Amino acid sequence: MKKAIYALMLAALLFQACGKENNDSPADKWEIPSYSAGEKQGNISYQLLIYSFADSDGDGIGDFNGIKSKLDYLDALGVSAIWLSPAHPADSYHGYDVQDYSAVNPKYGTEADFKALLDAAHAKDIKIYMDYVLNHTGKGNVWFAAAKKGEINKEFGWFHISANPSADIAAGKFPMLTSYNSGEWHDVTVGDIGYEGRLHFKVDFSGSVKTLTVTTSEAAAQQPNTDTSVNMFLWVGEPGKAVRMYKTGTDIYEITLDFSSPWGVLVRSSDTSWDNGTKWGAPKGANVLSFGTPLALSTDDAHDILFGSPSQMKFQGAFGSWMPDLNYGAVSTASSSGAFEAIAETADKWIGMGVDGFRLDAVKHIYSNERGSENPAFLKLWYDRCNETFRKTHSSDIYMVGEVWMDASAVAPYYKGLPANFEFDFWERLKWVLNQRTGCYFAKDLMSYRTKYAAVRADAIPATKLTNHDETRAATILGKDLAKLKQAAAFLMTAEGQPYIYQGEELGYWGKDGDDGGRDELVRTPIVWDKASSAAVGDLSGNVDATLVTDEISVEKQKASSSSLLRTYFEWTKARNSCPALAGGKMSAHQKYNDSNTLVSSVAAWYMTASDGSKALVLHNVGSNEVSLDLSGDKLDKQLVSLGSVSVDGSTVKLGASSSVVYVQ
Ligand code: MG
Repeated sequence: MKKAIYALMLAALLFQACGKENNDSPADKWEIPSYSAGEKQGNISYQLLIYSFADSDGDGIGDFNGIKSKLDYLDALGVSAIWLSPAHPADSYHGYDVQDYSAVNPKYGTEADFKALLDAAHAKDIKIYMDYVLNHTGKGNVWFAAAKKGEINKEFGWFHISANPSADIAAGKFPMLTSYNSGEWHDVTVGDIGYEGRLHFKVDFSGSVKTLTVTTSEAAAQQPNTDTSVNMFLWVGEPGKAVRMYKTGTDIYEITLDFSSPWGVLVRSSDTSWDNGTKWGAPKGANVLSFGTPLALSTDDAHDILFGSPSQMKFQGAFGSWMPDLNYGAVSTASSSGAFEAIAETADKWIGMGVDGFRLDAVKHIYSNERGSENPAFLKLWYDRCNETFRKTHSSDIYMVGEVWMDASAVAPYYKGLPANFEFDFWERLKWVLNQRTGCYFAKDLMSYRTKYAAVRADAIPATKLTNHDETRAATILGKDLAKLKQAAAFLMTAEGQPYIYQGEELGYWGKDGDDGGRDELVRTPIVWDKASSAAVGDLSGNVDATLVTDEISVEKQKASSSSLLRTYFEWTKARNSCPALAGGKMSAHQKYNDSNTLVSSVAAWYMTASDGSKALVLHNVGSNEVSLDLSGDKLDKQLVSLGSVSVDGSTVKLGASSSVVYVQ
């Protein structure tokens, strides 16, 4: 059965390979690839940004139903897994500051919508990987909200919160942190400390110094005053939360409230005007209120009046004050820490719903020593915990891939903890290869990385990729050179590992990220499906490159063009999926065209050999001139797929500029 299908596919691919580029005539019989159950062997994943992939309800924000409606596209692209950007509620548009790991972001749909996406994806042999952020939460996180209220709450210990961080670190109280870094510690009491409970407020405007006195109260709570002749309000910041006070004496106003505010309070003499002169707050630097003590009010640059519990504490957040780091304690006891148990329980929920795996964010930062043994050990605890849940309903192990943004040598130890890790060096090498037009060292470099991984884990899975949501786009790095972009796709689909395609990469999207003089949003551009006007731009605050989001670059346009980058992705993902040697093979050097043959330095050549012994020869000429290769030791009669200009004459293959070909051996 499998063999017959393979022969048919091979014939189809041979036909495609013979097709000429720039041929959009009706004679172009090429069809969008399709797959039957079990045919996608290539382990190709797609990194998808929920907020900007596809919008189903017209609110401009991508959503679960939008993704579900585009599964046919991802299936045709040969994708067998999707890595979703964080799906949880968050303050930011990108979602890496999670408020609640046990919920889905209502902007994206309901939990039922999420489950429906899982089921629909599985029906097409597409797995769903959730992005899980273990290093930190968001400042709006439900656990952090409880932690801020002090040691009385168990969540206090799930974060690094301290009145004296440097002393506590020196005393070994925070084993995850090797040293005190003042830039990572943020005031708990600035901007995000609130209060919930019954409070009595008294505003005294009778003297030269106007004051606010707040006391905790056992008295009955009052409704806001409805007497519109009294113009004195408490402002707690949310719509409709201007609370009119009662006049209890000359220039004295009071009210007792069941108070709830995530940040604090201001005093206002108008509920419609926002001008200075109608707003009283606290002087800068003296804005933490103590219960029972009158706070002198200031109308000059009035600062939010904050509630000081726990007062003067600081919390640690390596990525900034909006992302508090989680505290799992010493790695030897991490799996029994409250934070670990709590976040693991949320993962159990998603595994139970049918999620197939996780992409783990920023794992080198969990324990502050990036090159120490703690992070791999911690990740093994996490993997084993999730796998235990997964194996209750599956006969195979759960998939998990770590983001370890370091060179291959530094990534290798992380295979002690996880079966897969992203290989950032893949793109580092490939962009050099393509821009320097020097291919002869590529296979040697890649094989050397795999040797490092295999020393740690025999079945290590390098997750190969071009760029991701944090990097300047491949098209920008490659000068928007279509031939180079097509070859980047061909390299990605012919190398050992499990490749990821990043949303928009298949369409040639460009953009510089924030670290490169651009903006992060500009490398997270929405997919233009058919009309730019329907792209999910709503969550990007207008930071969208209008020259990129056009009808001309749309999926529909590129599907129809035989010379498009998308067409190249369709062809090379199909080739990978249909050829066991490409799909799961190991790389080995070519006997003639390798790092020792610098006379033909533009050629990258290697074999891929599957565990069943089947073999493919991969050839890429990254040069700007045609090369003539003597391949007398190789079989050249079964061409699987090609790019650019390829011709065979006996044992000689002529490869044009920026041309690639694969021969089944
Ligand atoms: Mg929507």
